[in-house]
Amino acid sequence: ASFEEMGIKDDLLRGIYQYGFEKPSAIQQRAVTPIIQGRDVIAQAQSGTGKTSMIALTVCQFVDTSKREVQALILSPTRELASQTEKVILAIGDFINIQAHACIGDMIKRRTLRTRDIKMLVLDESDEMLSRGFKDQIYDVYRYLPPDLQVVLISATLPHEILEMTNKFMTDPIRILV
Ligand code: AMP
Repeated sequence: ASFEEMGIKDDLLRGIYQYGFEKPSAIQQRAVTPIIQGRDVIAQAQSGTGKTSMIALTVCQFVDTSKREVQALILSPTRELASQTEKVILAIGDFINIQAHACIGDMIKRRTLRTRDIKMLVLDESDEMLSRGFKDQIYDVYRYLPPDLQVVLISATLPHEILEMTNKFMTDPIRILV
């Protein structure tokens, strides 16, 4: 399927083409549609597969830019990946007036980030977050989020601790192996 056939909104399509993408990568082919439809998705994918762009794309499609509230939260293992994700969101979201901020550290407990309107949580490079010792922080963040949450989990590997997280955070997830 092409980006058009995925039902991506016109102003976002313009941004995707301006950014230089012509057709979806394998992970984008398989993950974008179920995520847009509201499903929880586990994507087993390495970096370099187009997963960051897949996150940017689905978040841009999902967020209602007529509202100023924070609606999606993406957790990343490193500052570099968080900045990269922010950059791609702002680039492909050039025509949809989206705002994105790479946040470092714990803004939720200091109440500088309001979680009330968050409807999508993305856990990027989940195995990497765990191996860097962020398991407790992930569970802490999850506790602050509203109950009717869509969760997308990306991980190169799916060890027991990740499957535990998927059982706790996700509802009837689709599993995609790229
Ligand atoms: P990512 O895993 O999203 O960081 O993507 C890895 C590399 O592939 C980056 O240089 C992206 O810009 C590029 N890329 C991602 N998706 C596509 C696509 N659909 N078409 C062409 N290049 C892409």
